[in-house]
Amino acid sequence: MSDYVGRFAPSPTGPLHFGSLVAAVASYCDAKSANGKWLLRIEDLDKPREVKGAAASIIHCLEAYGFVWDDEIIYQSQQVEHYEKALAQLRLNALVYPCTCTRKEIADSSSQYGIEGMIYPGTCRHGIHQENKPSAWRMLTTDRVIAFDDRAFGHIQHILSRDTGDFVVKRADGLFAYQLAVVVDDVNQGVTDIVRGADLLNSTTRQIYLQHALGLTTPRYLHIPIVKNAQGEKLSKQTLASPLPMDNTQSTLFSAFNFLGLQPPQTIKNATSNEMWRWAIQHWNSAKPSKTPLRSNKIL
Ligand SMILES: [Zn+2]
Repeated sequence: MSDYVGRFAPSPTGPLHFGSLVAAVASYCDAKSANGKWLLRIEDLDKPREVKGAAASIIHCLEAYGFVWDDEIIYQSQQVEHYEKALAQLRLNALVYPCTCTRKEIADSSSQYGIEGMIYPGTCRHGIHQENKPSAWRMLTTDRVIAFDDRAFGHIQHILSRDTGDFVVKRADGLFAYQLAVVVDDVNQGVTDIVRGADLLNSTTRQIYLQHALGLTTPRYLHIPIVKNAQGEKLSKQTLASPLPMDNTQSTLFSAFNFLGLQPPQTIKNATSNEMWRWAIQHWNSAKPSKTPLRSNKIL
């Protein structure tokens, strides 16, 4: 085994769909072709959005497609004490501040748009806006350039104060935000390489900013093209992506390999899923996307 540690981190908000499979295949092939570990993490932090039974069905589905993970499955809902510790550290260093603004108040007071919608105008930066309301915790951003080199998308850089604004790390309802949880989980699991969908490309600089603030090392990143439906929308629960079929998994795996530019031979559909995986892992390094733009999907 090498020191490579990769992971797949689905949210149990519904069954896996083809887009999730593509992300899982990419991270699996990348880890296994590097003789690394591949970990499974269930991102069940947002309990109100969780669908009952979804975590079990995701695990069952991954097994049916022949994925084998190393170590125990980690559940985000059981990691809250680690997120609290990270938040305490950020508070100690005065890098976060409480914010009581509602969505509507932000929409009414902000006129700037960033890479992911409206920029928080910094209303609560200098003291809580309304003392008696539950507060979120926001990360203080700066005009320093945060940059990284993605293995597929190349050099990405943002100035967070301008591009995202001060972002939430813990919500007013007490739930930790994805950006903080993912950074803490990845370091606790020893993850060296993050391979995931390009819909998270813009989140990466915020995560790197948090890594810097918490004194953590930054992993390598490879973002892979997201899978879109015929209408050009990202496959997701919201766009009613169909669940992965549980029968004839070879044929769906074949499509996922194809989507990732692996060019599998037709005959491999008749192989066992073990043989399919062996083939994909062997061919991963020559096929992985280099400078792939977002491609829409012709398969589904
Ligand atoms: Zn505020």
